[in-house]
Amino acid sequence: MNAVPDLLDFDELLTDDERATRDRVREFVDARIRPNIADWYDRAIFPVELVPELAELGLLGMHLSGYGCAGRSAVEYGLAAMELEAGDSGLRTFVSVQGSLAMSAIHKHGSEAQKQEWLPRMARGEVIGCFGLTEPNSGSDPSSMTTFARREGDGWVLNGAKRWIGLASIAQVAIIWAQTEDGVRGFIVPTETEGFVATPIAPKLSMRASIQCDIALTDVRLPADALLPEARGLRAPFSCLNEARYGIGWGVIGAARDSYGTALEYSRTRMQFNQPIGAFQLTQQKLVDMAVEIEKAQLLALRLGRLKDAGTVQPHQISVAKLSNTRAAIAIAREARTILGGNGVSGDYSPLRHAANLESVRTYEGTDEIHTLILGAHITGFSAFRGTTIEGAS
Ligand SMILES: Cc1cc2nc3c(=O)[nH]c(=O)nc-3n(C[C@H](O)[C@H](O)[C@H](O)COP(=O)(O)OP(=O)(O)OC[C@H]3O[C@@H](n4cnc5c(N)ncnc54)[C@H](O)[C@@H]3O)c2cc1C
Repeated sequence: MNAVPDLLDFDELLTDDERATRDRVREFVDARIRPNIADWYDRAIFPVELVPELAELGLLGMHLSGYGCAGRSAVEYGLAAMELEAGDSGLRTFVSVQGSLAMSAIHKHGSEAQKQEWLPRMARGEVIGCFGLTEPNSGSDPSSMTTFARREGDGWVLNGAKRWIGLASIAQVAIIWAQTEDGVRGFIVPTETEGFVATPIAPKLSMRASIQCDIALTDVRLPADALLPEARGLRAPFSCLNEARYGIGWGVIGAARDSYGTALEYSRTRMQFNQPIGAFQLTQQKLVDMAVEIEKAQLLALRLGRLKDAGTVQPHQISVAKLSNTRAAIAIAREARTILGGNGVSGDYSPLRHAANLESVRTYEGTDEIHTLILGAHITGFSAFRGTTIEGAS
């Protein structure tokens, strides 16, 4: 594990349980992800064999209660996300898509029978889920989605297309959001259903140790009980996105910390002009700026986590962490890369991989611009989204 800046005794703010969860996930990342990630990334492989181990650690639907889920606190979930993303954003993304998006959609909006049917198997990693909201022509503005579910007898027929859907080609179940005559609704779609085709997007320059797909939906016939009964309108998918955005606010700190640690270690041993490069003031300025930003990001994430555990967190507060911590993490990963010089573009060192991954992280779950607009609307009272409402955007 790389050095962790601890200028402010952050650990003192955590409970014993929180530290124990963090340490458990950190050990897993050190043993199972760190030694292999450069190769997986290079060959664009998602290590699906790790799914049972992630389940064993209780990380799938970790913050959900009942139905075989671990029921851990928001802070513990955040710390786990941070440790996973120190390994690679792609692995944290897997846990986010499975737990915060697919499982939380069923947990929040599903019937009792749907929860019983899917959640225990998803928590055990036996069933992988995905979450299809984005479409080829509908991203930041999901109200423009054109995937449509029409009623046929008691059931439904889905037609449309989704894009950038994490895990879709290896998932057994997809949560698909679609327009209906009744507004946007969510559907539980077993991926073996005829007419459901997921194709991995390639080549990718980011998130290479992770899978994102195009999905074609052609006359996908579903029974009546495929509908998520409690999901009405865009508020339903947004409530899941908020869960995932929360995890990102923590996760990106892991990528930043690993980049910083790699650069710090390198700066202690790399000699130029007869000195370790860490002895140069210009290098120290970079390292100090990184360490200070990481401390600030941790404090922000922890504040958000405490609000979430208290049940009072507001969507705009999640935007503060998603926007600020992702922005800080990208800057840190890029700056760390400069300290590595030419070696910084080799796959043997993590910062450029993290920086490339973070380009995806800054884009999904609301781009920088979208979170800025959410906060702008909150601060000024004026919505600057054209054709949508403040509530719809958050
Ligand atoms: C690796 C990866 C994984 C993903 N996983 C999933 C997933 O599992 N499920 C899923 O449903 N989606 C997923 N996505 C999709 C992601 O959520 C979208 O890419 C994101 O919402 C942005 O949509 P877009 O790509 O269509 O860009 P657009 O919405 O077309 O945006 C393009 C640019 O325009 C800007 N823009 C848009 N509207 C405004 C505005 N009003 N004011 C100012 N600027 C604006 C954006 O900020 C951006 O800079 C994933 C994407 C990636 C890259």
